Amino acid sequence: MKSIYGLDLKDLEEYFISIGEKKFRAKQLFDWLFVKRINDFDKITNISNDVLSVINKDYTFDLLTIKDKQVSNDGTIKYLFELEDGNLVESVLMRYSYGNSVCVSSQVGCNMGCQFCASGQLKKKRDLSAGEMVLQILTIQNDLDQDEDRISHVVVMGIGEPFDNYDNVMKFVRIINNPFGLAIGARHITISTCGLIDGINKYANEDLQINLAISLHSAIDKKRSSLMPVNKSNDLTSLKRAIKDYIKKTNRRVTFEYIMLKGVNTSKEDAEALIKFVRGINAYVNLIPYNDVSNLEFESISRDECFPFYQILKEANVNVTIRREFGSDIDAACGQLRSKRIKR
Ligand code: SAH
Repeated sequence: MKSIYGLDLKDLEEYFISIGEKKFRAKQLFDWLFVKRINDFDKITNISNDVLSVINKDYTFDLLTIKDKQVSNDGTIKYLFELEDGNLVESVLMRYSYGNSVCVSSQVGCNMGCQFCASGQLKKKRDLSAGEMVLQILTIQNDLDQDEDRISHVVVMGIGEPFDNYDNVMKFVRIINNPFGLAIGARHITISTCGLIDGINKYANEDLQINLAISLHSAIDKKRSSLMPVNKSNDLTSLKRAIKDYIKKTNRRVTFEYIMLKGVNTSKEDAEALIKFVRGINAYVNLIPYNDVSNLEFESISRDECFPFYQILKEANVNVTIRREFGSDIDAACGQLRSKRIKR
């Protein structure tokens, strides 16, 4: 059955009209779902039981099942969720000085095949619905269950390629962004893509102020293609063109994620290629020390080892930081909790 949390306010209004109710009921229910966060019908006072029982036949109000939960010393919490059909996905809560951020999964598995990534070792089984993405946030918010512990930021950087599930991801964004619901500000929402050009082109035409992050990992075509097969059909020249066009249309800064893979993409030549690539782009480069994935051959790297590369970028006036690591004492690297549970 479909989840009630996959409807945006407009869908809910249309639904109420379709069952012979007034449109304003939608806002009332939206408030119960996302502001009061109640799914116990007895507590819903301004909608009649008759109407509620009709809704209950069409939609489920269930949250996700927390299958596993790991809490790190730094406050990071990693959740393994079970979906209605038994599939598993992960989400991570990270605590920053500016607020709580949740990293959301967009698919069950991933087909992009990036060599260094744990998620992609398990092929995509299916896309997540908008409701399943909303529920990752709501289930965590309910688990924290204190209003001062509000989730204020969202990154779509979990398992899956969001632009391979474009429509559901955008619907999800509209639901969590709605000021009558969770009201997570568009500027606090970031979608990360491995660089699907069609997706970037569509994204440039959305009328939302959401952020775009690109997983770059190499600015040398041959190397990027060997690390990320997606580069074969979405090469760096076309990628740069699409990003420039996105910036021209939205006037927003783009984040580049660059995993530091020891002995692979961290040389002076790699840094120079990166500098050249981001030239002329309003860019922010985030260097990510590689998180060891047990059965992959890449080596983990310390912050100190990332420093020379960082320094070269800095000297070329690139806007760059080395990403803070979260939950290094738990299975924090992308997709690791799930891949441990599933046999290949
Ligand atoms: N498919 C999207 C979003 C998911 S990956 C994308 O590619 O952007 C989110 C980020 O985590 C990407 O930058 C990805 O390259 C990075 N990542 C994957 N595996 C990692 C690992 N083992 N250590 C550090 N970062 C990793």
